[in-house]
Amino acid sequence: MATQTKHVPKAHASEQPFKYPLEKPFAEPDWNRFPGYKGVSQKDWETALWQRQHSVKNLRELKAALGGHLTDDLAADIERDQKERATMSILVPPHMINMMNEGDLRHDPVRRYMLPAFSDRHTEWPNHPKASRDSLHEADMWAAEGLTHRYPTKVLAELLQTCPQYCGHCTRMDLVGNDVPQVEKVKFSSQPKDRYAGMLEYLKKTPSVRDVVVSGGDVANVPIAQLEAFVSALLEIPNIRDIRLATKGLMGLPQHFLQDEVLKGLERISKKAWERGVDIAVHTHVNHANQVTPLLGKAVRKLLEMGFRDVRNQGVLLRSVNTTPKDLLELAFSLLDYAKIMPYYFYICDIIPNSEHWRVSVGEAQKLQHDIMGYLPGFATPRVTVDVPFVGKRWIHQLKEYDREKGISYWTKNYRTGIESKDPDALTKTYVYYDPVYTLPEAGQRWWRSHPDGN
Ligand code: SF4
Repeated sequence: MATQTKHVPKAHASEQPFKYPLEKPFAEPDWNRFPGYKGVSQKDWETALWQRQHSVKNLRELKAALGGHLTDDLAADIERDQKERATMSILVPPHMINMMNEGDLRHDPVRRYMLPAFSDRHTEWPNHPKASRDSLHEADMWAAEGLTHRYPTKVLAELLQTCPQYCGHCTRMDLVGNDVPQVEKVKFSSQPKDRYAGMLEYLKKTPSVRDVVVSGGDVANVPIAQLEAFVSALLEIPNIRDIRLATKGLMGLPQHFLQDEVLKGLERISKKAWERGVDIAVHTHVNHANQVTPLLGKAVRKLLEMGFRDVRNQGVLLRSVNTTPKDLLELAFSLLDYAKIMPYYFYICDIIPNSEHWRVSVGEAQKLQHDIMGYLPGFATPRVTVDVPFVGKRWIHQLKEYDREKGISYWTKNYRTGIESKDPDALTKTYVYYDPVYTLPEAGQRWWRSHPDGN
């Protein structure tokens, strides 16, 4: 008689490099701990207008908000940065100030990227020799003013040049925000009405485009009637099948998305998209677990209830903010568990001026991708990507060659951008991307010192 084999269950949960469940409580931090917000009622705090009116725009207002938590040396450090290095002016809503650890502002991850200090930047290489203002050449690829046509089937519509918050590492620092001592911003030459008409005109006559990212700036600053009119017009164009609204304000100022007027407008947009069989989603930009708050979760739930297909996160890898596997996994799990946001991408910070201290090398990014695999569901495991100039997004392992000594990676592509229709070599040549010089071995750093223009 055959003996029966029995499988005795022997697997069990093990100690892991990353521990789940999350330990940090999920609660709106108490804003009363900041002198500037002491006694502010919940009603005011949850009002978008109050948040906008009390957003911090300069050092004086920052000091008033943070009181003694902001030491004089940190205040002077931030002030010096604004004068000598910053590419974005200061604009931080109270809701974002409230995500900071008042006990250690110098090392706080949100402070580090929203309110950069001069001494945060790298001393020898604050700037990569190959850095440029519009490092992704978005304006070079405008098909109509503000409409970037880079990929074969999708476009980026930059509706406006402002946001409810300004991030120190903004990749669109050329176009977005106020002038700062280091940067006079490019200004749109046409009125919004004419610009939007030009974009719609191009999309009507370009059936190869099916996907529009509606961005800025931040769509949270587009008056809802204007946003509704623009998206509604997009929905009238038969070739448009996917629309994504890009807003970091969903996290930085969720109060905006909880206003009746805004909710009604978004609901009409969502309904019309559903009727036309078009997918509409929101893309947001959260860089740290401390930024996932109950108010964000509430706003996302409203969007999903009204039929938005998804809310996805496109974070940016920023050294000292989120570049450990623990930082990334805590953020991804917080997004998923607390806010129903899909962790989608993490980009390497682009090569804009003075961004070196934030950027990681391609090798470091590859390791981060490795180290976060296997914890999250596959569909929610964020892809680490790099936006290679004149190429576009590439997954971090897709490079062709990598000179680790000089920190130069070489990339290929399989489509022409909107400005290469006549370039016979566009699909056969390689395109370069540069690691921060200070991450290179000594020989590579020596090479850059003796070739300061990189040639
Ligand atoms: S919200 Fe986006 S566009 Fe606006 S400053 Fe931040 S990164 Fe730039």
